[in-house]
Amino acid sequence: MEPLRTAELLSIGTELTVGETRDTNAGDLARDLTRRGVVVGRITALPDDLGVVTSAFGEALARADLVISTGGLGPTPDDLTREAIAALLGETPAVDPELETWLRALFVRRNLPFPEANSKQAWLIPSAVAIPNENGTAPGWFVTRADRRIVVALPGPPREMRPMWDGWVVPRLLERGLGRPIASVTLRLAGIGESAIADRLGSLLDAGSRPMVATYARADAVDIRIWAHDDAGEEPAGSAAEVVAAAEDRIVGMLGEHVWARGETTWPAALREALETRGWSLAAVEIGLRGALLALLGEGLADKLAFGEVLLARPEPHDGHRATLEHLAERVRELGPADVGVAVEARERGGDTAVTVAVVTPDGAHRETRVVFLGGALGRGRAATATAAIVLARLRTPA
Ligand code: ATP
Ligand code: MG
Repeated sequence: MEPLRTAELLSIGTELTVGETRDTNAGDLARDLTRRGVVVGRITALPDDLGVVTSAFGEALARADLVISTGGLGPTPDDLTREAIAALLGETPAVDPELETWLRALFVRRNLPFPEANSKQAWLIPSAVAIPNENGTAPGWFVTRADRRIVVALPGPPREMRPMWDGWVVPRLLERGLGRPIASVTLRLAGIGESAIADRLGSLLDAGSRPMVATYARADAVDIRIWAHDDAGEEPAGSAAEVVAAAEDRIVGMLGEHVWARGETTWPAALREALETRGWSLAAVEIGLRGALLALLGEGLADKLAFGEVLLARPEPHDGHRATLEHLAERVRELGPADVGVAVEARERGGDTAVTVAVVTPDGAHRETRVVFLGGALGRGRAATATAAIVLARLRTPA
């Protein structure tokens, strides 16, 4: 049987379409499906409206091999997911005696009367099997349509949905055949903007090419993701891993000086590794960043750091300025005591933020100024990232 190659996700509940609840379920599922080589074609949020939800299931099933919904499996009249699926398939729900026994036992255990409204949580249709829910009263539905396409209905609360997905649904989908082998790599870049990256990558970013290449501007980096599916028919020939590796080499050739990590590496993790390679510790003092450097690094590097936040109201720039920041780096290194001393100062300049970093290592002293985009909290966040990049480069520079 052909594996399930395409999926669509439906997030059901008026609370989503009025903005009261953030849809995290679809993103979590999409990430997992993509990793498994399934192409997610669409994510849709829908109100609790039987007509809207029924037609959304129908349209999604016309396009995709697999449709997964979350939400709307509760006992209240506005929870309509079961009704919608049954209507679409032209089947009539009936109380499943086994599910009903299980459900009633939950209420007996808690010494509560069984509300008749809940009995619809024991419903099944002939095409559905129940997905056990160990963390709530709403079992899911695993529906196989006559054309072998699959509908999975899961409850809305993430702590119910996730274990059902990981523990029950995924193993069954794997048995059925899920996705195509996929190879992917993420390069993390600093010191260059997304549009400059796009200029250099040129046609590599073209839609539908093999491998696919995309850029994502994130708070701590611009990521370049490169991925491909194993597919005999596609050009250029080669396994997914081969075409991804070849593209990665090309991209590193073009932009290597900006690549500071691969995969999901964070700044604290990259600095930790570099510090451990050198056997060094680090002390830092920040001025004018309002703790942005500590916020970026403190949580992930706490055991490696001696940190100080100094809020200095500096007078106008003066001649001694250059010496002062280096002196601070030296002082914080002594005070740590640490092998590496860092002093950083940020100040707004014409709507942007100028950040000057002094780094003193056993190899020598270094000082660098960069101007990052925008002022305010965004500018300070970028100033912290620029500081991490400058420090990392010093740690990685051989003596
Ligand atoms: P239950 O029987 O637990 O009510 P349900 O399937 O009826 O399950 P909903 O009533 O749709 O689920 O949602 C219950 C709660 O789950 C919501 O109040 C919200 O906190 C959370 N939730 C629902 N949908 C999502 C979603 N897409 N992303 C994140 N959280 C969600
Ligand atoms: Mg509910």
